[in-house]
Order: sequence, then structure tokens, then C-alpha cells
Amino acid sequence: MPESVEDYVARIAAAQDAEGRIALDPQGVIAWDVFPFETDGLRLKPGPVLGEERTRSGEDPATCECARPAVRGPSQPWGVVWEDEHFLVKVAPPSGSPLLLSVVTRRHLDVPDLDDGQAAAFGRLHVALVGAVEALPSAGRCHVMRIGDGGAHAHWWFMARPARVPMVFGSFMVDWDDFLPPVPVAVRAENATFVAERLQARLGGIVVTDEG
Ligand SMILES: [Zn+2]
Repeated sequence: MPESVEDYVARIAAAQDAEGRIALDPQGVIAWDVFPFETDGLRLKPGPVLGEERTRSGEDPATCECARPAVRGPSQPWGVVWEDEHFLVKVAPPSGSPLLLSVVTRRHLDVPDLDDGQAAAFGRLHVALVGAVEALPSAGRCHVMRIGDGGAHAHWWFMARPARVPMVFGSFMVDWDDFLPPVPVAVRAENATFVAERLQARLGGIVVTDEG
């Protein structure tokens, strides 16, 4: 029998001090060479345990982003750059990564709701996207994430980790994406189109340009 949430959060409460803080382990993650912060004075924020999960945006399909027409083109914030019958690939506004893409399902559903055909199509798209992003001259790796705490509509992240910058290696690239200087809009758009054209060559689908 899996542990109950009450038993799980009781263990967190037992580790918290009077202010609700958990102590940092000096031999833990803060000792990793890729930990991005200097540790003098560093401490964790205190935080509550909720009685239930928070609701996410788009839980009601009528209020979800997918109820409105998608923005199109690689120079637009969250513009669609590639699409097929199941998925849209959107480009995030400029950030520190050479390229940050979001993949969303055409239909309003969450990840566990994909049928086997959609799941198989996502597997092919996942592999093709990793290959296409890692073919970018400025990318050393493509990091892939499904988090899903903000929006209820199925979405995944594909993030180019810049090549040759060891301080951003590993999972902290998610944080470095917000710390590094943003790439120009035109650079982000050209990188997105490079990836979209490789997706089309491997999977078919449609490359969406700024002209539509
Ligand atoms: Zn939706």
C-alpha cells in the first residue's frame, strides 16, 4: 500500500523548524559543482502544507488557452512553429537558452488522457525534437520536461542547453534560462525554424512561418 499524503507531509513538518524552514544539508545539492548560487547566508523559504492540491489554469476547457486561436509564427511569443494532426510546437519568448519550445496537444486533455495513438505520435515527436534541437550549432543538449503544475492542458518543454558552458550543465539549466542574457528575438526565431524544418523532414507536418 503506497504511503498516504498525510504520512508524507507529517515527515516534512517534523523536519521544519519553528519558522517552517528545512535546514540545508551542506553535503547535499549545494555542494554540487553545478549548484548556481554561492551559499553564504543561503537558506530555504518556509512554506505551508495545503489541505488539497491547488487548481491549475485551464481546468475548465472553456477558460483554457486552447479555447482561443493559437498565435502563429516563430517571431511571435508562444507562436506555433510546427504542427500536425495531434500536436502544436510553440516557441517561448526570448530567454537565456538558445531555444525553448513548448509542445501542446491540439485537443484539450492532460497527459494521462492521451490515447495510444497520440502517445505513440508523441514518442516519435519527442525523439525527433531532441535530435533537431541538438543539431543547433549553439546547443549542447536538449533537456525535456513535463511539469504541469501551472496549466491543466497537456504540455511538455524542450530546452536547448547551450554548448560549452559547464556552469549551466544539468538540471539547473532551468534556472539559468532565467539568469542568462536573453537571446535576440531573431535568433530565437531562426533557431525555432531550423528545428521545425527538421521535424517536417522526419515526421511531415507543417512548418509555420511568420507569414502564416
Ligand atoms: Zn486546453
